[in-house]
Amino acid sequence: MKSIAILGSTGSIGTSALEVVRANAEHFRVALLVAGRRAHELAAQVREFRPDVAAVAGRAAYEELCAELGVSRTAGSWEEVRLIYGENQINSAINESKATTVLAAVVGMAGLPGVLAALDAGKDVALANKESLVVAGALVLERAKERGARLIPVDSEHSAIFQVLQGTKPNEVKSLILTASGGPFRATPLEEFGEITPERALKHPQWTMGAKITIDSATMMNKALEVIEARWLFDVASDDIEVVIHPQSIIHSMVRLKDETVLAQMSLPDMKGPIAYALRYPESRLPGIMKPLDLTAVRELSFEPVDERRFPGIRRAHECLRGARGACAVLNAANEVAVAQFLSHRITFPSIHALIEESLARFGDRGYESLGDLVDLCTEVTEWARQRVSTFKGR
Ligand code: NDP
Repeated sequence: MKSIAILGSTGSIGTSALEVVRANAEHFRVALLVAGRRAHELAAQVREFRPDVAAVAGRAAYEELCAELGVSRTAGSWEEVRLIYGENQINSAINESKATTVLAAVVGMAGLPGVLAALDAGKDVALANKESLVVAGALVLERAKERGARLIPVDSEHSAIFQVLQGTKPNEVKSLILTASGGPFRATPLEEFGEITPERALKHPQWTMGAKITIDSATMMNKALEVIEARWLFDVASDDIEVVIHPQSIIHSMVRLKDETVLAQMSLPDMKGPIAYALRYPESRLPGIMKPLDLTAVRELSFEPVDERRFPGIRRAHECLRGARGACAVLNAANEVAVAQFLSHRITFPSIHALIEESLARFGDRGYESLGDLVDLCTEVTEWARQRVSTFKGR
């Protein structure tokens, strides 16, 4: 029986993780649930999983959570479950929690404090929140090393590589090959990108995910973030990370060995696979997590290069990795602003890449010394990018 914490429990990854827990109650106990604003959904999870502590990001959601559970906001608990809100209280709860593994599934750079709090407490982190590595890869890795905590990837591509690497010698690895579905606009001509609405971009051909990562998949910024994530998780040079489009999403990624053997990991696209693997690690796999992969039904496994003219994010990720220390954080902050603005219909689809490019031109040479400097840099980029898009008018 493993005690776990789920940060981002009301999201796509969080609810898939709770499905894994529900189906394997003899293996997992939920010690801590953290959500952002969806108090109604969290209240239902609290009733079902009875964690030691349940938390939301802010006071308004806390009041809603108390009302949903039928307790006064001064009570601070429902039955045996302690109810809290706010980053400081959440970080303390992570630290004090009985959980040995923390699933980091908050979206965006808002996920970074939870990842650092878990590592500080020496807990293993099952990492879905790729943005924390994109923004602060060196700091996160340093923290994990200092505290002897493990980072186990949940992103399906990185989980695939992590699984493949279990059976290889580090000195045999030549490069990592990340696969990408290519998203819904893989074959859409560039001239039509201006017509893409958020509603169309939110329809991913293979995966059902939260809104931000679905837009990131449509722009292929998701793959750009994953290149940076892979650089830190596996300690490889940027040049040793390849990306190939594989529309069927059956091969989740590959490792190229020095003798040119390529090892791949395959399954149907279902995040419960990598989530269960990461939550169980290093224990053995649980049976029946995913539906069986019928290879005769797959018929075709195809591969294509990425068209960098239409999807410039991957090239930019490589440039950021080669550039100043703060460049990846700038890329991420600009992307977070751009995605939010696109989802609110304030900018067009091509403006997402335009805003990232302009932000990198302005801030891409910045470095940082401390976590405080890094947070300040992200805030500065976010504020500037929000101002900048207000001048985009129709772009
Ligand atoms: P969702 O948008 O579906 O869920 C995000 C979760 O984060 C929600 O529970 C939300 O709470 C919570 N949250 C947001 N802000 C805060 C905050 N300030 N404090 C506490 N909780 C907060 O996202 P996904 O589940 O799709 O993605 C989560 C992460 O996993 C992302 O980094 C994504 O890139 C990564 N990932 C996702 C995959 C997927 O299949 N979905 C695949 C691989 C990686 P609430 O809803 O209550 O406001």
